[in-house]
Amino acid sequence: MKRFPATACVALFFLLAVFLTGCLGEPPVNTDWATPAGAGVSGNGDGIQDALSAYAQALVDKDRDKFASTLDAANTSFAAAELQKFDNLRDVPFDRYVINLSNLSEAADGTVTAKVTSGYTLRDSFPELPDLDRAAYFLINRGDGWKISGDASVQALGKPREARFEDFGKVEVLNSGRAIVLFQEPQRETAIQALTMVQSALPRLEEVVPGTSLPKVPVRVYAGITEINQTFPGKWQEWTGGASRQLGEKTGQGGEIIIDAQVFIDTNRTTPGYNQKMMAHELTHISLFPLTGNRTPPFLIEGMADYVAGIEDVVLLKERLRAGGAYSPTLRDLYQPGSFTVLLNTDAATLAYEEADTAVALLEQKYGNERVMSLLREFQRHEQDKQSQDVIVDDVFRSGLRTGWNDFENEWRAFVLGN
Ligand SMILES: [Zn+2]
Repeated sequence: MKRFPATACVALFFLLAVFLTGCLGEPPVNTDWATPAGAGVSGNGDGIQDALSAYAQALVDKDRDKFASTLDAANTSFAAAELQKFDNLRDVPFDRYVINLSNLSEAADGTVTAKVTSGYTLRDSFPELPDLDRAAYFLINRGDGWKISGDASVQALGKPREARFEDFGKVEVLNSGRAIVLFQEPQRETAIQALTMVQSALPRLEEVVPGTSLPKVPVRVYAGITEINQTFPGKWQEWTGGASRQLGEKTGQGGEIIIDAQVFIDTNRTTPGYNQKMMAHELTHISLFPLTGNRTPPFLIEGMADYVAGIEDVVLLKERLRAGGAYSPTLRDLYQPGSFTVLLNTDAATLAYEEADTAVALLEQKYGNERVMSLLREFQRHEQDKQSQDVIVDDVFRSGLRTGWNDFENEWRAFVLGN
């Protein structure tokens, strides 16, 4: 069987680049609404937070009556849509669901607009809340307390809210010891396969990344690219059916796997075995998120993911090395932060992955899992280091493997040609 199709490599990689750059950069800061909670409404801030908290807690407790009691029944279409949302989410095992009030403004008719941040965790999955999403609601006091009476995204945030998974229909759940797959009924077959693939990838992942202790990894199966683009607009430059998504920079926030069922099904037919590798690749990214930083050579990150997934013969790289001329990118280029985001064509992407795969294979075979893990940890310790990447890489290789970068690169060349 062929290695990942070259175009898929590019795409896989571009996707990852989007997420990595998004996640390794500065945490999102909402500077446009820094007003303290409650500042706009005299004495009512607490009551409004109470209403929002009751709404969120009802979703966790699966308490439909309590949920309904937080809605403004006078806005019938909004209340009906929210109850539909409740029903769509009734099988999703939330562990925690928060809606935090960030800012309030009051209109003349007594309606308030509340800007909030929200997010949730799933039971037995990553314990810390993901980076929170922004949302906005209208609330009105109906005498028996504040009621949520509408979505204020357009008015308060300047654009309609992005789609959420439950907008596409009732969310079904498949649970195993190690994964929680969320999907809509038409995608059940893909969801079952995805769950099986996560389970089959775990033994090798645990062997290659010793000490990994992933909680249940969330997997979201979308019907297709339309739904994915509605949920993550502008995030997907290229798409081959699966990607991992970091939910925050802290270890406890973890990540999730996103699947496009349409592509997944097509790929099952055209390239048997690819989906299993894709799942193992993305799962490895999730397990390594806590071990990587902005100075971790990208070739280690991608190479590890492919190494767990299973690497194959590197035809193009051997050809280039044998030819003896210049080629791009070099392995050295690929230790620069962000280097996988600037691969300009299919050949460059194929070469990049072949270099990453063989470099990690050499490291694993010669030094073993534990040393590779300590190498990753050492790079992470250099996150705030002001020195150039060349100096850092050489230092870390010397201290971790007792070999400088130049020697390693020579050894790697010989390793590729000798295999
Ligand atoms: Zn990757």
